[in-house]
Amino acid sequence: MSIRLSGTPASPGVSIGPAFLLDVEEIRVKKRTLRTPEEVESELERFSDALAKTRGELESISDQISDIIEGKQLIEVHILLLNDPSMIADAQNLIKNECVCAEYAVSRVLYEVLERFSAMKDPYLRNRAVDVRDVGRRLIANLLGTEREALVNIKSPVVLISSDLDPSQTAGLSRKQLLGIATDLGGSTSHTAILARSMGIPAVVALNDVAESAVPGQTIIIDGIHGYVILDPDDDELQFYSELKKRYNIAEAEIALNAESAAATADGQPVELSANIEFSQEADQVHRFGGYGIGLFRTEFIRLLTPGVEDNEEMHYRAYKHVLKTMNPEPVIIRTLDLGGDKFLSSIPTVEKNPFLGWRGIRICLDRPVKFSNQLRALLRAAKHGNAKIMLPMITGYDQVLQVRLMLERIAAELDRDGIPRGDIPPLGIMVETPAAVLGIDLLLPHSDFVSIGSNDLTQYTLAVDRGSPYVSKLFDSMHPAVVRQIGIVAEKCREAGKWVGICGLMASDPLAIPLLLGFGLNELSVPMTLIPDVKEIISVINMNDAKSLAEQALTLKSSDEIRKCVLNYVESKYPEIILDEIHREKNDRGN
Ligand code: PEP
Ligand code: MG
Repeated sequence: MSIRLSGTPASPGVSIGPAFLLDVEEIRVKKRTLRTPEEVESELERFSDALAKTRGELESISDQISDIIEGKQLIEVHILLLNDPSMIADAQNLIKNECVCAEYAVSRVLYEVLERFSAMKDPYLRNRAVDVRDVGRRLIANLLGTEREALVNIKSPVVLISSDLDPSQTAGLSRKQLLGIATDLGGSTSHTAILARSMGIPAVVALNDVAESAVPGQTIIIDGIHGYVILDPDDDELQFYSELKKRYNIAEAEIALNAESAAATADGQPVELSANIEFSQEADQVHRFGGYGIGLFRTEFIRLLTPGVEDNEEMHYRAYKHVLKTMNPEPVIIRTLDLGGDKFLSSIPTVEKNPFLGWRGIRICLDRPVKFSNQLRALLRAAKHGNAKIMLPMITGYDQVLQVRLMLERIAAELDRDGIPRGDIPPLGIMVETPAAVLGIDLLLPHSDFVSIGSNDLTQYTLAVDRGSPYVSKLFDSMHPAVVRQIGIVAEKCREAGKWVGICGLMASDPLAIPLLLGFGLNELSVPMTLIPDVKEIISVINMNDAKSLAEQALTLKSSDEIRKCVLNYVESKYPEIILDEIHREKNDRGN
């Protein structure tokens, strides 16, 4: 019987193939004592040979992924860790003074370093333990003469199952042999997820027990669009997913055909259809998928992949410059750091019992003005390379916007004083993702140049439903009247104030929500890049007048079921069959 596991979609697409289970290697190795000075001498030599080999391996991975700035950066970090003189000296001293074999010396040093990292206060540095462990495993495998990645032995395409994957393992994988990835751990923001996305390999993470449940060689389906993994699928599932895969691939092939045409409704009303991106290199693909501009550039990942990047203005600058130049003259909405909540800080023991209600997004930035200034400096410098807009997350009051505006003015003056080139101060917008921002929208608009609705958080905060909790996931519903009505309010107030308003939460790509969002008169839908072709097709069959009356009607309905039914009645005769199939499937999953 098939087993269906639900996880976090990490990289879109569908793959079907045989499971390949990757064992997680242990770092600890056996102690071997050296008896003579000659043995010590040759062990030191063996250690330096292994260092050279490991360095060579990392350099060749770095060459292979030269087209992925962030991935390359990650491997460079690993090379830096490997070359750390104190780590090398500590291992050499253990070999010399305690007469132990090189792999044992390395494992001892590693454990000490890992312990030091785990005890670090700075959450970012603490997260770097994963990189230290990764480099250490690679070095030990070379000392032991084992092929570290059984992966190199893969001869035919497989779906890779693992409890977790090290970043360098992911980066070193061959795109040809790898159909998909499923892991127990990780989140959509984990290294593995980011790299899988950049390599275009469907992936689902945070599955909890896929590594235990899967049997080597059995057929497995990865649905990286919705976040499902199906082990040993039955005929119906195989048929459904083969079709979904085909449709996805056809959509990919048709992308080039539709990419040229701008998104517009059936009656010719233009709609800005933009991309959400998580790392800079994705911008290269936006036009291929037929998108117009970037509606949300989540900048947390630049920090995630580079040690000390909080203070590394240069890394931010390079990423923004690349995106802005690539998209120019189309707009690029760069969101300032939205750390906290479930982003990188959640795995860290924290005094906060409710991190989503805690130190998150703009709150952290304003409490750390020196570090935040580095991001704003990078933004101002990069702004001269294209059409940049700056967007602030988690806004609850106008004073937050004012503070950032003042900071931008001060930083602009400093750059001018120091003769550092910069662009004009970009338009400064806000994310509306808290009920406070909706109810106070008239107070915020005079200070905000534009608005983008973050429906993911708006749903979470409105319905008091943790967006990441499996226990309440059924209650997380952006079509709830309380959410839909708030979108209506924001759209109306923005229209009255003459302010541009878009939406960048996942609701923007929900086939049943799209008619409502258009009907409310939103200027832009910003969606995950790979969903652009579908959303464009959906927009093209909707009539704007119909959308307006659907939106009006939705405001009078009592439940999300009623709202969905009302839209479904309208779209049933219009949407392509495969999209209707998906709507019905989700309806069944919701149990209605
Ligand atoms: C949102 O909350 O809808 C949003 C787009 O931001 P994020 O998902 O990054 O919190
Ligand atoms: Mg948000």
